[in-house]
Amino acid sequence: MRLRRVVFDLLVYESVDELEQEDHILMNEAVKARKNAYSPYSKFNVGAAVLLDNGEIVIGNNQENASYPSGLCAERVAIFYASAKFPGVGIKTIAINATSKNFVVNKPAAPCGNCRQSISEYEIKQRRPISIIMSGETGEVLKCNSVSDILPLAFNSTFLG
Ligand SMILES: [Zn+2]
Repeated sequence: MRLRRVVFDLLVYESVDELEQEDHILMNEAVKARKNAYSPYSKFNVGAAVLLDNGEIVIGNNQENASYPSGLCAERVAIFYASAKFPGVGIKTIAINATSKNFVVNKPAAPCGNCRQSISEYEIKQRRPISIIMSGETGEVLKCNSVSDILPLAFNSTFLG
């Protein structure tokens, strides 16, 4: 037996104002998208904005349903919409922002496991990392350079033969 340590770089910003211009613009789009989230059940509003290689920004927000699992997270709404509208165009970055009607979201909202897996699919397909920027209502902002950083040992198509 041997130990294999998995480490990754996580960039920590004091606020969105510290982000580089391109990332700041993308986060602003995620914030705008978040305001249109349909979240009558969780009251947790999430917006996502995807920057593509062609310069287009595609947005998404969480869409809930009375039959709870039928809803979809903001990240997957955005990335699936990007793939539907711009098939084959590479994805550079995803920005995520979250607020709640019930409490102050004072830490960055990271994508759930299902969204990490979905983003991973496109990262593997394009053979290039997808950066993820995460923010809440207040507090620091985090950026990782690849979804594989936050989903190590991801399931992928090589397991399917
Ligand atoms: Zn999710």
